[in-house]
Amino acid sequence: MKLNFNIQPLSSWMKVSKEPLLIAGPCSAETEEQLVATAHLLAATGRVSALRAGIWKPRTRPGEFEGIGSIGLEWLKRAKAETGLPVAVEVATAKHVEEALAAGVDILWVGARSTANPFTVQEIADALKGHDVPVIVKNPVNPDLSLWIGALERINNAGITKLAAIHRGFSSHEKSAFRNEPMWDLAISLKTHAPDLPIICDPSHICGNRELIPYIAQKALDLDMQGLIIESHIDPSVAWTDAKQQLTPSALNDIMERLEVRKAAAGTTEVKDKLAELRAGIDKIDDLLIQKVAERMQIVEKIGNYKKENGITILQVNRWEEILNKRITYGSALKLSKEFTEKFLELIHSESIRKQTEIMNKDGVAGSQQEHLTHA
Ligand code: PEP
Ligand code: MN
Repeated sequence: MKLNFNIQPLSSWMKVSKEPLLIAGPCSAETEEQLVATAHLLAATGRVSALRAGIWKPRTRPGEFEGIGSIGLEWLKRAKAETGLPVAVEVATAKHVEEALAAGVDILWVGARSTANPFTVQEIADALKGHDVPVIVKNPVNPDLSLWIGALERINNAGITKLAAIHRGFSSHEKSAFRNEPMWDLAISLKTHAPDLPIICDPSHICGNRELIPYIAQKALDLDMQGLIIESHIDPSVAWTDAKQQLTPSALNDIMERLEVRKAAAGTTEVKDKLAELRAGIDKIDDLLIQKVAERMQIVEKIGNYKKENGITILQVNRWEEILNKRITYGSALKLSKEFTEKFLELIHSESIRKQTEIMNKDGVAGSQQEHLTHA
């Protein structure tokens, strides 16, 4: 299925300061000083092509900070006038669209919660009719490619030709290292259906923490995404929203400096080189392996804490043997040698032991129990 979007190339509406394209700014505009000072530091890096800031914030629970509201538009005007950076805000209603356009906002984005609701998207699309403004559409909260495509189509049908998608990850019931599962396959699928539609990756909302951002940002570039949107705050420790995932402008600059833009990397729509294609498959699986091992360790830690809190001393002498036997049998069925599976599991097991020993030794718990408490 090829999708026919009537769009203009990204380069016709976004002046890229430096490759890769970077849109950055705070999750929320909080005060005029916070916004303007952050904007100045971001502009000074010379890497930022547009300033983002949420002024109407969709929050999961009422009572949380729901955005500073329309006054923030005045602050954005000032930030833009002083730095020369185009500005982007999230719009979720027709009124937001009207106010943002009246204030000269350069780029509008549709948030993940809005994309999940076709009524909301249609309301936004109707308000956009007759305006020539760039709009970027985040993927919906839930992993539903059709909803994402549908939102892009509604906006495009309203006459918006300066259009791009944002990949910000998807809600999942499975606990993982990410706040929102990347589910790269969905973004790749959108790219396959609409090769000309630019996709910008939002590592901040995928990760939910600062530490993983460089990996997701690099992966997005390796998958040939057109740019990044990353949250940056002058002092993340006191941010009113998404504090854990925001970066200072200088930390963001460091990350950007280290990213590699591989022009002819595997990710071009036609991968001619078989070896590159196979390697891309291995990279994907290795990423998953690391992710899954990390998730296993998180459970190991939970078991360690649980046993410690409950003073459990029940021996689990058979647990490790059972793990080994079951996995070796499964591995053999999948054509892995017994020696390999055993070595692989031993390695994971010894790390589990190290982790649980650490937990047990915190605040001085008797070492004699450790051996039996670690067979996760
Ligand atoms: C945001 O960009 O701050 C935001 C609310 O993101 P999302 O819609 O992706 O949750
Ligand atoms: Mn945010």
